[in-house]
Amino acid sequence: MVSMTAISIAMNKKWGSTLSQWNRRNYGDRLLNEGLLGPWIRGRKKSAYDALETYLLCENKHRYIIEKIQRNIDRRIMMSRLDEILAFNEKFVNEKRYEPYKAGNLPRKKLVIVSCMDTRLIELLPKAMNLNNGDAKIVKNAGAMVSNPYGSIMKSILVALYQLQAKEVIVVGHHGCGMTGLSAEKMIESMKERGIDEAAIASVKDAGVDIHNWLKGFESVEDNVRHSVNTIKTHPMLPPNTLVHGLVISPETGKLDVVIKDQ
Ligand SMILES: [Zn+2]
Repeated sequence: MVSMTAISIAMNKKWGSTLSQWNRRNYGDRLLNEGLLGPWIRGRKKSAYDALETYLLCENKHRYIIEKIQRNIDRRIMMSRLDEILAFNEKFVNEKRYEPYKAGNLPRKKLVIVSCMDTRLIELLPKAMNLNNGDAKIVKNAGAMVSNPYGSIMKSILVALYQLQAKEVIVVGHHGCGMTGLSAEKMIESMKERGIDEAAIASVKDAGVDIHNWLKGFESVEDNVRHSVNTIKTHPMLPPNTLVHGLVISPETGKLDVVIKDQ
């Protein structure tokens, strides 16, 4: 834990001033740009931030600085993951580990799968459906929700059907989905806790977005699959005779339950 006194002394030593006299925007930038906090943040991450936050909250006027520091820490954590990925990638390419995955860009099985971004489905979903690289176009979002007939998911489905030779669509929801029971109110609450103010929320509303409808999840995964299938099936631009099915997968066993089988 960083000592409050140490921070206070260092800050005063650095600029020979007191917190209350500093221009808060310049102060935040200088604090980070000059790396004064670097040694504390590096290696300590949360604890340094917590100590500093406590200190600055005592001053009760430096929310901006706290947010900048938090973003800096977040960025460093992200960067460390990216470095790890890039190091792995160099080996992956050099050792030609990509060879088993060679495939064309057209879906061999002429399928479009619409599913959820759930972490448990990254590998399980294709394995459980016997899909290998090159077999299908897979479109994912939170909840396998096709809620907007003119949104990006529907556009991707149409691109796959018209431009990439797909013929059949399968919506795959899953049990235990994070979108079950998700309310817009809960999300808005989390946003406020993270510093999004009323003005930002009002600006989204002013842009014509129905926030509650946009952010909500669903009550039942089966109902959501039916709704998504219906949105696709009744789309005015869907190629005639396109089969659109709905399934629910278990994120533990990969078992598929049929909700709608189109014929
Ligand atoms: Zn999910």
